[in-house]
Amino acid sequence: MITPAAAGPLGHIAIVHEDPERSEDLSRLLRTAGHRVTAVVPGRRIVQSVVDCSPDLLLASHSIVDPPMASVVKGVRQALGGDVRILVLYGFDPQGVPADVDDVQLAEPLQPTELQIRVSRLLRELAERRVLQKKTSELLGLYKMSWAFSLAGGAEALYGHLARHSAEMLKAERGLVLLYDSERRQLVGQPPGFGVRPEEVQRVRYRVDGEAASRWNFRKNGPLLSNKAQADTRLLPELTGELQLQSLMIAPITRGPKILGLLGVADRTGRAPFTDEDLNLLLALAGQATIAVENLRLHDELKKANALLQEYDRLKSEFVGIVAHDFRRPLMAIRGFAELVLEEQDLPPETRQEFMRTVISETDHLALLANDTLLITQIETGQLSFNFREVDVGPFLLEAVPLGLSDHSVLMDVPPYFPKIWADPDRLRQVLANLVSNAVKYSPSGGSIVVRVRERGTMHIVIEVIDHGLGIPPEQVGKLFQKFARVRGEEHNKVSGTGLGLYICRLIVEGHGGQMWVESELGKGSTFGMSLPMDARIAQRPLLPAERASEKSDFPAADSPAPGPRPLP
Ligand code: ADP
Repeated sequence: MITPAAAGPLGHIAIVHEDPERSEDLSRLLRTAGHRVTAVVPGRRIVQSVVDCSPDLLLASHSIVDPPMASVVKGVRQALGGDVRILVLYGFDPQGVPADVDDVQLAEPLQPTELQIRVSRLLRELAERRVLQKKTSELLGLYKMSWAFSLAGGAEALYGHLARHSAEMLKAERGLVLLYDSERRQLVGQPPGFGVRPEEVQRVRYRVDGEAASRWNFRKNGPLLSNKAQADTRLLPELTGELQLQSLMIAPITRGPKILGLLGVADRTGRAPFTDEDLNLLLALAGQATIAVENLRLHDELKKANALLQEYDRLKSEFVGIVAHDFRRPLMAIRGFAELVLEEQDLPPETRQEFMRTVISETDHLALLANDTLLITQIETGQLSFNFREVDVGPFLLEAVPLGLSDHSVLMDVPPYFPKIWADPDRLRQVLANLVSNAVKYSPSGGSIVVRVRERGTMHIVIEVIDHGLGIPPEQVGKLFQKFARVRGEEHNKVSGTGLGLYICRLIVEGHGGQMWVESELGKGSTFGMSLPMDARIAQRPLLPAERASEKSDFPAADSPAPGPRPLP
């Protein structure tokens, strides 16, 4: 007697028997045990009829003759492959049973319990085979995915492939990759999606901070499965509402504790629900995606670093060219005057002295150029370090400003009781010396030079160097703090210089977290100013050129709270 609700798995069984009564008996027995049964009438279309009902198990009697049982078994096996189990009821001689058959049982007398055991075992085998097949196809899918990543060309191809392949593997109608945008602090949809229109992809944004605590937080809550997306209050309505999603699965794409983005699929084909097993597969796909997304990020970073290196190389060549040119001019002058002094024995002593003075001043110029060049190289390769100390501004300025440079009068405008600041006094001295020496150099007709210092708010001081000299044409003011920038003009050209001084001043002031500027009127004079934070140690200083090269965009750690007005929910 076959007991209902047998312990084994239940399935769909097709029965093929030449005797309708026996067929009916068998059907009843198996139905009572809980199986779904289809009795197929033998005839010329029997193979097609069996294939059409796509059973899990075919129970065939050996005695069917037209067509013979062996050809029925062969035809069904050919059409359905290993996805059907075949059990044959034989008469006296199991030898004649074809090899394609999975199991046999004696038909007369039929032992119902034995039949139950055999059916259960075959159905269990089939279930195990199907699980194995599913796993294999998942693994194959993962392998294909990772293989395709290495071929994927660029971001669009990668995100499109990820979205499509994930959706296909999970039998979903839509797929999309979202990536974390550190500036906007949002997870942003990446085109192209699969089954999502470009304008819809653009609208997919998921804020990582600021939303209500009841919303899903991928850092804290991990992956998400929702088969009633429209009614799910954990999800952002703008995400599910906009896209009219029915069911949804999202897995985070993570690197260590950091979330790089999300991989989402939605709307199961045929409206079937997503299962926990599906979510596991999506997590595996997201794991593969991590490698690809990381590769792409590293590739982009490498590309940027390469471009930067090329730019540095170009700048270096340009720099070497200009420096070589700037070195040659004073060297030629030194050599020319030295030759004259050596060869012209009859030179009057004043002329000889004049020539020697030129040699000395050109040598000084060369030394200055060498110093500036060295300093710029140090700054641009990140080797310049600042030695911040407490500086008493008033006494420091009196000592740092070179007063006896020329006939110009230099006036110090420093309020009494000026606060102390934290700065690098040696570097600041260099800035002041440069600005005052420029003020002198570019004021050929003399006049007073003022060095003024004031507090600005509670956090900054401002130092200005004011002259009444040549001034600067307005159209040339903007470029003065760049490397080798020199004003082109008849009067300016008469003054020798390297065009490096103001560039160095700017880098030093910026290294303190400060800023430089100039106000000037042609023919009337110029004011070069700088603001410095009271404490350069804690000031937010801009990056020096070498530091800019290694600047990285980073994603927030899953467990570290985000900066900004509100903590992460
Ligand atoms: P340089 O060695 O040529 O003086 P700087 O970088 O110090 O280099 O200055 C760049 C250019 O800015 C100078 O060549 C000059 O044309 C202009 N400049 C600098 N300071 C003044 C000033 N006080 N008055 C007028 N022009 C100035």
